[in-house]
Amino acid sequence: MKVPFLDLSLQHQALRSEALAALTATYDATRFCLGKDVEDFERNFAATLGYPRALGMNSGTAPLHVACMLAGFGPGDEVVTTPFTFISSAWGISYVGATPVFADIEAGTFNLDPVKLAAAITPRTKGIIVVHLFGQPARMDEIMAVARQHNLFVIEDCAQAVGASYRGTPVGIIGDAGTFSFYPTKNLGGCGEGGAFVSRREEIHTRARHIRVHGSDRRYYHDIVGGNFRMDGFQGALLNVKLPHLAGWTARRQAIAARYLAGIRLADVILPASPDYGRSVYHQFTIRHPRRDALREHLAKHEIGTDLIYPVPLHLQKCYAALGRGPGSLPVAEGAAATCVSLPIFPELTDAQVDHVIQSINTF
Ligand SMILES: *Cc1c(COP(=O)(O)O)cnc(C)c1O
Repeated sequence: MKVPFLDLSLQHQALRSEALAALTATYDATRFCLGKDVEDFERNFAATLGYPRALGMNSGTAPLHVACMLAGFGPGDEVVTTPFTFISSAWGISYVGATPVFADIEAGTFNLDPVKLAAAITPRTKGIIVVHLFGQPARMDEIMAVARQHNLFVIEDCAQAVGASYRGTPVGIIGDAGTFSFYPTKNLGGCGEGGAFVSRREEIHTRARHIRVHGSDRRYYHDIVGGNFRMDGFQGALLNVKLPHLAGWTARRQAIAARYLAGIRLADVILPASPDYGRSVYHQFTIRHPRRDALREHLAKHEIGTDLIYPVPLHLQKCYAALGRGPGSLPVAEGAAATCVSLPIFPELTDAQVDHVIQSINTF
């Protein structure tokens, strides 16, 4: 039985006529940049997920960049983040000339370890970028306590965590700014690039709205330095079609995760932790095994697709070599990178496919 790591065609074929009708309407109205579709999406997104307001942007990297701009990070400032994430989590820090400082993760959740975070704070630290990796919320109480103690600006990278909550609060509005990605492979994926920005603080939302459109509130008047971070109309239209399905897709991901957690019985395998402070939306289901590469080969022989997310932590990437954090400096993240393997988890998987993955792992 074939189990692809991810198959986007199933979801898109199921929504084909509805999606194409929405895209056609946007095309015919020439609503190409921001406009009604994006405004509708922003309102629906905020209402559906429990945010006071939201801003559509043109990628998941964009709101991270915008958040670093409006936080006022700059040369000489340090911003602490996790080394075990997609590279974008750190890009915004670099774009504004500040310095990323990587603090190690917890082994169980793959998220920032609050103790290591606290140890990484210096007099130059200005902010924290928390990532809710794989859809699992990070330990926000402890992280916010560190932030308050040192007066730090907290950005939550929720690219993988749309719909996740921490002690009942949706991720993204616990800190000062929250960011989302609608890259096609994310839990809520566009038909192209997209992202969103949220904040519980209205003045921050307003600043992000101005930065999104060239630092402007009125056309051709630019009060602050901004950029072009606009969401396009097609993404707004498509995401409006998909949004009502998100809760069902999330529930299906959680059911698949529960099946994996209950069924996988292999010596030396480490399953992802699911602590009760957070409700994960399982963007990935990532296990660890000391013979990870052999396990992947075994699963490939059983026609099961897997992926390495992530094979190299950020402090060991060439682009950050100048930061001088070599191998051995962040051992938990390095251990995760060396032993992790992500299993298929997308809403259209059947129980039979999930059981095939479980049985194949258990016979390794
Ligand atoms: C996908 C992702 C991003 C960036 O999103 P893009 O839409 O690809 O720019 C940022 N952070 C994390 C953790 C991601 O997974």
